[in-house]
Amino acid sequence: MAAEFIYLDYAASTPVDERVAERMLECRGSAYANSSSNHVAGRRSRDNIETAGAQLAALLNTDPKTLIWTSGATESDNLAIAGAARYRAQRGRHLITMPTEHKAVTDVFRMLEKQGFEVTWLEPGECGRLDPAAFKAALRPDTQLASIMYVNNETGVIQDIEALGNVCRDNDVLFHVDAAQAVGKIPIDLNALPVDLLSLTGHKFYGPKGIGALYIADRPGCHVEPLFFGGGQQRRIRPGTLPSDLIAGLGLAAEIADGRLRDDLTHLAALRAAFWNRIRDIDGLLVNGDPDSGFPGILNVSVSDIEGESLLLSLEPLCVATGSACNSQIQEPSYVLRALGRSDLEAQSSIRFSFGRNTTAEEVEFAAGHYARAIQRLRDLAPGDAA
Ligand SMILES: *Cc1c(COP(=O)(O)O)cnc(C)c1O
Repeated sequence: MAAEFIYLDYAASTPVDERVAERMLECRGSAYANSSSNHVAGRRSRDNIETAGAQLAALLNTDPKTLIWTSGATESDNLAIAGAARYRAQRGRHLITMPTEHKAVTDVFRMLEKQGFEVTWLEPGECGRLDPAAFKAALRPDTQLASIMYVNNETGVIQDIEALGNVCRDNDVLFHVDAAQAVGKIPIDLNALPVDLLSLTGHKFYGPKGIGALYIADRPGCHVEPLFFGGGQQRRIRPGTLPSDLIAGLGLAAEIADGRLRDDLTHLAALRAAFWNRIRDIDGLLVNGDPDSGFPGILNVSVSDIEGESLLLSLEPLCVATGSACNSQIQEPSYVLRALGRSDLEAQSSIRFSFGRNTTAEEVEFAAGHYARAIQRLRDLAPGDAA
């Protein structure tokens, strides 16, 4: 291995596709004008934004008019949840989500709780999925919004968005989906899916950081109050000068993903199977999530008798995540894994391996062997504690 590190953290961020980087440079050179400006240079920026909107809309099978540009999934989640809760507050103040959502979702609900909204936190079943019947049972006459993520960023668990969305449609509840780990990775048809609001971010599918979008279905009663106020761009839902170069990059990343979704999934499934076969016989190994039905780009595993930080250190030069990537400065066990029934120790030893387009079979082979050896070494250092 000549490389300085082996990157197995695609769920945290992906490298920018070279064509995307080129496209953004092109835009910076020749289409730098403000897209709100009514002159020929502004027209160029507008054209680039329009092209990107069409590319993203094609990936998701929706109309470009349903897409609002934001700074990423964090902002989209905030705008969708706070915006929809406030828009519908006259009708009712009950909301539904899960504790296993990303912090960009859970923290918005906690803020809304402080503002007088009532939130039901639904626990997942053993494999991390939400049972649509349990979801339906949690609805009340005053329920206005539910937010359930598509693919879990820690475990790769995929929720039954269609079934959950149908429950929402039948009961006039708005349905928001954080699809940051799903867009550009698994097929999504917004024309067919019963989803009202959907968040995405460019850097999870080989586009740039700092740009994302919120899908707002073109249906009566589906609307969000803005979080920002200003120049009136994007129908006042999210004003501010549009970063036309980032948007052009995201658009091209969407088009590239659209053309290779199936091939990417096949590649990831082969990598994950190879990795799994290499480590499956490790004593006391636990899989966090459901390896049969989950997103194949993520494999999250724990061992109960080893401390997470020591394990992570001995895994260098592998770039992997322990607990939640966004929380790894905080020394608390992953709340997502705790909700799956893992003990503190099991959750603390969890390692998330996530694979991507550039991951090779050789890297996976090396990483899996390295992981197995690291566990053996740590167990040899502390004999007697082993499970
Ligand atoms: C990455 C991620 C986010 C946040 O995306 P940003 O680009 O950091 O705003 C939100 N939700 C999920 C599920 C994610 O994986």
